[in-house]
Amino acid sequence: MSNIQDKVVIITGASSGIGEETAKELSSKGAKLVLAARREERLKEIADNLNNNNGEAVYKSTDVTSAKEMEELAKFAHEKFGQIDAIVNNAGLMPLSYLNKQKIEEWDKMIDVNIKGVLYGISAVLPYMRERKQGHIINLSSVAGHVVFPGSAVYSGTKFAVRAITDGLRMEESQESNIRATIISPGAVSTELTSTITDDDVKSGVDDLYQMAIKPDSIARTVRFALEEPAEVAVNEIVVRPTNQTM
Ligand code: NDP
Repeated sequence: MSNIQDKVVIITGASSGIGEETAKELSSKGAKLVLAARREERLKEIADNLNNNNGEAVYKSTDVTSAKEMEELAKFAHEKFGQIDAIVNNAGLMPLSYLNKQKIEEWDKMIDVNIKGVLYGISAVLPYMRERKQGHIINLSSVAGHVVFPGSAVYSGTKFAVRAITDGLRMEESQESNIRATIISPGAVSTELTSTITDDDVKSGVDDLYQMAIKPDSIARTVRFALEEPAEVAVNEIVVRPTNQTM
């Protein structure tokens, strides 16, 4: 039997791409899922499909930029299933642009979703996990959280921050409460992510790179691997690129 059987896992950004595929992968291993994102109809459709295939999934429309909504999400998961074993803080945006384009609203959104959303997710589940002295927090960074390129200054800033926050979390909680922390950094993956790019000067280069993009189920399998390891094994960080991606 998989270690994932009956684990209660919250997934943010579960309405598309990597989050949706992660939901399918973990459901196939017997996880009890709490799916979150803003597009409720997409969540309902995904949850219905999982439940019709012997899965167990509930959903809640949630904006990760609201600490209150994230707290309500954790409470909902706890009320539904009696415990929270893991959260995958996956919701994210990538409106890449050159700094001189002054796309300040897009910078604010990225900081709110990619950094604050992850922090609010951590804050929402920590009390439940600390009480049981067990839990697993998996945060999605990016190859852009390891290297910067022209156009990625702010996005990279948010993804470097995710790595810093996750490593700090690991140090604070690993001995104190046995909580595992995992950073997953994908390269180019074909999802809806690039649709948020409004800077045409960046878009063409990104479109070229994404010719080689791999499918999101590859990242879902990585999440599954980290979760499936026994409690005393913490998979702290993984980078997964398309084989042909050099950067
Ligand atoms: P998608 O655009 O397909 O998915 C993004 C998800 O985030 C959607 O489910 C969206 O749902 C959700 N989301 C966005 N804003 C919010 C919000 N305010 N509140 C709640 N949910 C929100 O992209 P991916 O699947 O590719 O992205 C998943 C993660 O992987 C991101 O963190 C991304 O940075 C990271 N990543 C992706 C790479 C790629 O090449 N695809 C590469 C490296 C990292 P909704 O709109 O319904 O709210």
